Amino acid sequence: MNEEIITKAIVIKSIKYQENDKILTLFSLELGKISAKIKGILKPTAKLKFAGQLFCFAEFSLIKNGENFTVKSASEIESFFDITSDYLKLSVGTSILEICDKTLNDYEPNAPLFLNVIKSLQAICLTKTNPKLVLAKFMLEIFKLSGYELNFQKCQSCGAEFNGKIFLNIETGSFVCSMCKTEECMPVSLGAFNILKLIKQTDYQKLDSFFVHEHHLNEILILFNANFSGKFQIILKSLKNL
Ligand SMILES: [Zn+2]
Repeated sequence: MNEEIITKAIVIKSIKYQENDKILTLFSLELGKISAKIKGILKPTAKLKFAGQLFCFAEFSLIKNGENFTVKSASEIESFFDITSDYLKLSVGTSILEICDKTLNDYEPNAPLFLNVIKSLQAICLTKTNPKLVLAKFMLEIFKLSGYELNFQKCQSCGAEFNGKIFLNIETGSFVCSMCKTEECMPVSLGAFNILKLIKQTDYQKLDSFFVHEHHLNEILILFNANFSGKFQIILKSLKNL
């Protein structure tokens, strides 16, 4: 029996399939990560062309047949197409989608993560914030949602308040002091540490209210990339482009 399901979702992956079709990976608010076929999308006259593009945020009408979904129709909720107009925006946007694809399990809804994706893409499209700063905020939130929230007050190992050099232990995903550093630790500059503290308590829409040096952003993304690999055993391909 075919069942029709309406869901809000964002296209996080899009792969050509057969002559004119695509297989989409959707991050659905209600269903979590699912795959759906969209037929005839590569024909020049296809009406739903927009729905086969990365970053498409739409209300999808899906036909469920057993375990398989097919897109019947879609109506766009918000366009993030502007992201594709700029190399840096596109690289950061692609990283956000890749992180979702690799950390989400199939059919497990994750509303907090969904909200973070929408807010981060809005910040990239609608504000003047450096896209790398948006990615740093998004990754901070990912660590938090996965149970590895960074503690900026105290060394995770000995509990002492930070006073002096700070390190990120990428095995445990936490900040430690110089007394507790191990081989798995990477040094964190005070500048980068203070920026992270600040963006932790700042909403995506307000990230453009402070200035951040590019070298601090690059340092944060190198640290977070290592921390991400340590926590999830996943190498992010898209971060290499930044
Ligand atoms: Zn310590």
